Amino acid sequence: MTGPVYLAHDHMDRAEDFKRDFAAGVAGKILHLTIDSWIEAPTREEYEAAYYSYDRYMERALAVAARVHASAVDPSSNTRIVRCYSDLQAASRDGQFAVILGNEGGKILGSDISLVDAWWWMGLRHVQFNWAMRNLIGASQSNEHEPGQPGLTKFGVEVVKRMNELGMIVDVSHSAPQTICDVLRITKKPILNSHSGSRKIADKQQNLWDEQIRDMADNGGVIGVHFCSRLVLGINNKQAEISDVVRQIRYLVDVGGIDVVGLGPDWVLGNPERDRTYLRNTDQTDITWTKGLEHSGEISNLIPALVHGGFNGSEIDQIVGGNLSRLIKDVLPA
Ligand SMILES: [Zn+2]
Repeated sequence: MTGPVYLAHDHMDRAEDFKRDFAAGVAGKILHLTIDSWIEAPTREEYEAAYYSYDRYMERALAVAARVHASAVDPSSNTRIVRCYSDLQAASRDGQFAVILGNEGGKILGSDISLVDAWWWMGLRHVQFNWAMRNLIGASQSNEHEPGQPGLTKFGVEVVKRMNELGMIVDVSHSAPQTICDVLRITKKPILNSHSGSRKIADKQQNLWDEQIRDMADNGGVIGVHFCSRLVLGINNKQAEISDVVRQIRYLVDVGGIDVVGLGPDWVLGNPERDRTYLRNTDQTDITWTKGLEHSGEISNLIPALVHGGFNGSEIDQIVGGNLSRLIKDVLPA
């Protein structure tokens, strides 16, 4: 028996997905409504045309938000949208699945700071600033070697300040090292890096160097450990084992301490309609998740592996959800 399991990064947005999550022992998650690319584009050409554009990103995210809200108000969904920390507690008390609305990428904000407030009223409580490309908030991981170390833009600074004031979670996964540095310098609240790992173990741009892990720990932030094989291992075309995920967790704990680690599985597959366009458009037909952790229904497999990895009960509670729930408490309104 462990404490509640909360996931920092997940894309499965249908009522049936929430049911599977909950049945498997997941108490809640940050649901990413959309990402900063159009993964459902009907053709590869349309996907590429939308890559650096801002067209219709907000509209598509609003459509998903509306659908999730509509399904959550149906009592049979047993789902609660978390707008403040007490909602998370209430969901836990009432045996409901807790959903924190978030987004993987800042294009939904356009270049208009008032849209942060508009999204707040829509129930959004999290924005991950970047996906694979830069946007008006800041530089992405793909810009890390550009001269001049591009980071957070002036608009990005405003976004951090407003999100801090309102009580929204700032997520720097996929952002350039300089963007992460800039956010950490100005934020008044702990931040999230929702799906990542150690770059020393697995040298992928999305993962973090030791110094970045320590910076996240100093901020009181949380790093969600990714379950996608190539980010766990640092190589493509090989499926990771659960012990590899535990190795990542152990490394992050050794470098940053027990308070900094959470879970960021990034499950995105399992909706056949979306799988088809996602895999084709993003050219990731070889992508795999860790064997035994390929969808939320398998989450309980992690617990014995953590025990085997030498973690005690209270450490496991923190890793699987305690640290993320602390972050939510620190950032969202009471
Ligand atoms: Zn991602």
